[in-house]
Amino acid sequence: MSENITVVLPDGSAMEVERGATVEDVAHEIGPGLGRDTVAGLVDGELVDKVTPLTEDCEIEIVTPDSDEYRQVLRHTGAHVFAQALQRLHPEAELAIGPPTDDGFYYDVANVDLDAADLDAIEAEMAEIVAADYALERVECSRAEAFETYEDNPYKREILESEAAGEDPVSFYVQDGWRDLCEGPHAESTGEIGAITLLEQSAAYWRGNEENDQLTRVYGTAFESESELEAYLERREQAQERDHRKLGREMDLFSVPAHSPGCAHYHPNGMRVRRELEEYIREKNNDLGYDEVRTPELNKADLWKPTGHYEAFKQEGEMFAWEQDDTEYGLKPMNCANHAHIYSEGQYSYRDLPVRFSEFGTVYRNEQSGELSGLLRVRGLTQDDGHAFIRPDQITTEVTNTLEIIEEIYDLFDLEVLYKLETKGDDAVGGEDIWEQATQGLRDSLETLGLEYDVESGEAAFYGPKIGLDARDALGREWTIGTVQLDFNIPERLGLSYVGEDNRDHQPVMVHRALLGSFERFMGVIIEHFNGNFPPWLAPEQVRILPVSDDNLGYAKRLQGRELSAFRVTIEDRSWTVGKKIQAAHDDRVPYMLIVGDDEVENETVSMRDRFEEQLSGLPVEQFRDRLATEIEKRRVEPGIVERN
Ligand SMILES: [Zn+2]
Ligand SMILES: [Zn+2]
Repeated sequence: MSENITVVLPDGSAMEVERGATVEDVAHEIGPGLGRDTVAGLVDGELVDKVTPLTEDCEIEIVTPDSDEYRQVLRHTGAHVFAQALQRLHPEAELAIGPPTDDGFYYDVANVDLDAADLDAIEAEMAEIVAADYALERVECSRAEAFETYEDNPYKREILESEAAGEDPVSFYVQDGWRDLCEGPHAESTGEIGAITLLEQSAAYWRGNEENDQLTRVYGTAFESESELEAYLERREQAQERDHRKLGREMDLFSVPAHSPGCAHYHPNGMRVRRELEEYIREKNNDLGYDEVRTPELNKADLWKPTGHYEAFKQEGEMFAWEQDDTEYGLKPMNCANHAHIYSEGQYSYRDLPVRFSEFGTVYRNEQSGELSGLLRVRGLTQDDGHAFIRPDQITTEVTNTLEIIEEIYDLFDLEVLYKLETKGDDAVGGEDIWEQATQGLRDSLETLGLEYDVESGEAAFYGPKIGLDARDALGREWTIGTVQLDFNIPERLGLSYVGEDNRDHQPVMVHRALLGSFERFMGVIIEHFNGNFPPWLAPEQVRILPVSDDNLGYAKRLQGRELSAFRVTIEDRSWTVGKKIQAAHDDRVPYMLIVGDDEVENETVSMRDRFEEQLSGLPVEQFRDRLATEIEKRRVEPGIVERN
């Protein structure tokens, strides 16, 4: 073993350091200023304490208070501040696990009941701990001592036997004499937290498993400053107001009843939205040259063994599978194997490729019950899936065409797409050449289209490089949605082939792609993104006619049945005042209201009012009809609808 290892810095430059040097040592080596500012390190993408020794070649990024990752460090420290405050006031409380999350932290605790007054008191105590500016110190102690410390805490003991298995010594973080088993990293002192608050509490099973103890999960967040915390709380409130589960109920779009956990029931209104999305994606698949297929949900488990999916999904407990008549059956967790099977039954020459199959494929995955949330975290979902079988020389063209359509789709919804190129990791299958060619193909596609992208090196699945897509919504939140992924593994394992120009058998590359991802997730995202104000082409109810009196009802019915019969039109016939009718239509987020009174009946016109309270009176019916027809045909999103919500 050599005494030196190579660390690669974010700018791509490499540095030789002694094996066992810490993150902090590397920072000092780069420059003394950086050394002083070091809070933590990102080693091969993983956030670690600055005292972590580097034992092998790696990529490293130094985390300072200016880094994006610093917030995670602060928030983890926030979790410790909460835990110390909790135990000061409730010494009997047992701590389970308290990680940072994307926008804060939580701590799962046991043996304590907390009401709102308790949480207020804990928060006040937390403020004192922050004000006292206690130093956080990393202390190592033997496993034996750690087990002794946690004699009465089964959760920490389990962590010692799982996450910290075999570690001796183990590390604790100590502040003001209070200690927690922890790997770090942490801020230097509690005073680095500029603002901290508790957000809510809920029940959570230990390790997310229903068969385990039920714990109390307390959520909080921490920021560098009060103003940042306030801005966050404002965004959070907005997000709660437009929570898709709340809007789903209010607009009667969908429900997820207790008897089908994680599987949505689409109500007629929700189904109207979904059908429009399906029709749109069918058009796009058609443009891309896909042939629609249909494959069963129910399959023998053997289907997924040659592809490796059985191993991957079954081991993770993510597949629904059971024995029936001595045979194991399962619900498909993905469509790839079925589509590959259809390909395998054909005979193709190099001239036939690409061969492309699309399917609105319904798949099931056994997500943990604690993770389920409306349409965004589900067990049953329908992907707008597709697989193309192509020659290696077709990679760039195929991916470019797909990305072009993806750009068009997200632009239509006024969502910004962030691209990530995930490249070869250590566990990759397939030769160096094909990885090289494929990764270059993906890169060329992104660059041909002038798309900006992040490279996540080593992050690709073992079977091929990938372009991941995140959509950024109106509130600036990012959602993982579609994907374009290359696969050398399934063609290899299933022996898929085509006859080349040389009359020999060659192996195709399989492209997995989803444009929206799944209809469930995409609907959840756009409900929140549009705050329920769907553009007219998607709106479950496009027009509501509000007759001023019962005398105008006949005219309203004629419009509904004749002039406007191409649209989704309802009539508000309750004997309410016009003002109340307008309010109800507004609450139901109907794009267009048509108020019809005696004048309108006489002149064959309507008074149109849109949801931004813009009004046009005396509008000839045909003019309104043509305007709406164009908006729907072009799938227009009203200008500014996303910002004005
Ligand atoms: Zn910790
Ligand atoms: Zn696939």
